[in-house]
Amino acid sequence: MAALYFDEKKCTLCGQCVEGCPFNALRLENGRIEVNAACKMCKLCIKKCPEGAVSFLEDEKRTVDKSQYTGIMVYVEMEGAGIHPVVYELIGKARELAAEVKHPVYAVCVGGDGVGAAAKKLLAYGVDKVYVYSHKALEHFRVDAYANAVADCINRVKPSVVLVGATAVGRSLAPRLATRFRTGLTADCTQLEIKENTDLVQIRPAFGGNIMAQIITPATRPQFATVRYKVMDRAQKVDDPSGEVIHCEIPERALISGIQVLETRVLEKHKGIEDEDVLVVAGKGVKAQKDLEMLERLAKALGGQLASTRPLVESGWTHYTKQIGLSGRTVKPKLIVTCGVSGAIQFTAGMNGAECIVAINTDREAPIFKIANYCIVDDLYNIIPGLLKMLEAKESEG
Ligand SMILES: Cc1cc2nc3c(=O)[nH]c(=O)nc-3n(C[C@H](O)[C@H](O)[C@H](O)COP(=O)(O)OP(=O)(O)OC[C@H]3O[C@@H](n4cnc5c(N)ncnc54)[C@H](O)[C@@H]3O)c2cc1C
Repeated sequence: MAALYFDEKKCTLCGQCVEGCPFNALRLENGRIEVNAACKMCKLCIKKCPEGAVSFLEDEKRTVDKSQYTGIMVYVEMEGAGIHPVVYELIGKARELAAEVKHPVYAVCVGGDGVGAAAKKLLAYGVDKVYVYSHKALEHFRVDAYANAVADCINRVKPSVVLVGATAVGRSLAPRLATRFRTGLTADCTQLEIKENTDLVQIRPAFGGNIMAQIITPATRPQFATVRYKVMDRAQKVDDPSGEVIHCEIPERALISGIQVLETRVLEKHKGIEDEDVLVVAGKGVKAQKDLEMLERLAKALGGQLASTRPLVESGWTHYTKQIGLSGRTVKPKLIVTCGVSGAIQFTAGMNGAECIVAINTDREAPIFKIANYCIVDDLYNIIPGLLKMLEAKESEG
């Protein structure tokens, strides 16, 4: 790893590096300069030191033989006895990427006793090999032990790419693995492509969503990427599944975890906006909080839920779980009706995969109309009451 080096012979403990550090990453302790985890390697301390006592030791440049790494591996996150739906989407993308470079698709499942049965289901989706790590000690997600199991699988299989769901579990697991393999990880990818030389092109919004960055990991393997739920298309079943399930074991010492699970409680599951086929979205064009009731009714009449843009969450009108966008949820409904939403890129990044977009906005130049299938240039207060009347009359008819 790259590191800062303080030459104790030259250092006079003047403290200028400590004062000049914008991240408070340096401390004068026990007669020496200590660097803490806040260090961003900005190297300002090197410039500040009048004695030239601070230097930056570069990591030795590593390059791996890419031909030694084959296959696209998907981490299979379990939800109780079932498989998290993001896994099917990752398999869909893994199959597309694998077809490009003629590699196999692998899956790795980690869990308690029931995990083998769940793993078998994946063969129907065209996975070539499903590696199963099933053990009582792995019944609950404990990131250190799970990372040991997945790392064992990676060492055994040497995949070129590892795809992980950008869930709470995936966001905890993937960075640990990437660090262990001293390789790159791109979080929250919205698109993935692969080059002929197997470099994964990891595409995601950057700089507040104003650009789409293309990130590659040219020198190391495997290449880790996390992808949010509802971003990729779900894998379809194949006609002639021919894959196999391989049961694996890791040494008992690798199952020891520093995390003790005292109790588990299943949270009451509410249907989130990500799982909805129909969404009505309230934007800042809604003038008062009480007017959300009208949009709630519209959502109900269409058989869906109300969602919103970020400003409505910030003003406390809607809950953060209802926010669509870059810093909210990604949705892919069959129908989305946006009401008084301008269509900022940070919003559309979370919903442009919707099948049918209906936009209502008074401004005909609003960016939302660039991606909408149906554009209604009008005041939402003119449109919604009439629409509601029609839908509710239809509902009462039968
Ligand atoms: C790093 C970062 C992350 C962000 N993440 C998100 C995110 O996740 N989600 C998100 O939503 N935003 C996000 N934003 C904010 C985003 O840039 C926009 O500010 C926000 O999406 C605008 O919300 P809006 O469309 O509701 O409001 P506005 O942009 O103010 O648009 C209101 C629209 O309503 C129309 N209108 C007004 N009155 C009426 C009426 N009576 N009838 C019909 N139309 C009417 C107006 O013409 C206008 O187009 C983020 C910003 C940053 C910098």
